[in-house]
Order: sequence, then C-alpha cells, then structure tokens
Amino acid sequence: MSNIDKRALAIPQREKHDWSQAVMRDCDFCQQWALTVKHSDGGGICASCCDSEYTTALSSALVVAIERSEAAEKRIAEQRGIILSARNFISEYAERGDAGAEEFVSIIDRAAGTAKGE
Ligand SMILES: [Zn+2]
Repeated sequence: MSNIDKRALAIPQREKHDWSQAVMRDCDFCQQWALTVKHSDGGGICASCCDSEYTTALSSALVVAIERSEAAEKRIAEQRGIILSARNFISEYAERGDAGAEEFVSIIDRAAGTAKGE
C-alpha cells in the first residue's frame, strides 16, 4: 500500500491567458509598465511574471519530487537491511541441511536479484 500523496506529485500546469486581450498597464506583480493579461487571482500580470509564477510552481514540485525520491531510497535501504538480516538468520538453518530454509534463502536471493546469473 502506497502512502504517496498523488496530488503532490502532479506536474503544475501553466495558466492559460488570452494575450490577444492584453493591455498596457502597470503589472500588479512587479509594478512594471508592460503588456498584461487578467490573472486568475485578480489584477493584471505581465509575461515575465507569468513565467516567474510558473517556474516557481515547477521548482516547488521538483523539490517535493526530490524529497519523496530520497525518502523512498531510504525506505528501500532499510527494507534491504531487514531482508539481509532475515537471510543471514535463515542461512544458518540452511547450512545445517534444512531444505525448507535453503529454499527460503533462494527465494530471498531471487527477490533481491542476488541469485547467481542475475
Ligand atoms: Zn510583472
């Protein structure tokens, strides 16, 4: 079961603007005299501020993705450690001739991709 928040992984979508309706005025975001379009939150926004708004959203999404990737790598490393501990434990029984333990070791090796030939 995954505890990943799918919404947080969504790629931000750039807000669409009808630039044929642009008007010259002070941008409400940078206060520069520029061609502006209506912003969804109200006011007028220039092209430069549109770009900045979008790259900020992309950057935030990337930070979330990197953090989740790092967390996933950490979980994988922890789980690998648990699997290796279990393998070491069961290996002692396999070395004493326990066929079931031997089969279990080979299952762990296949699952971990450490079996011979892989
Ligand atoms: Zn602006």
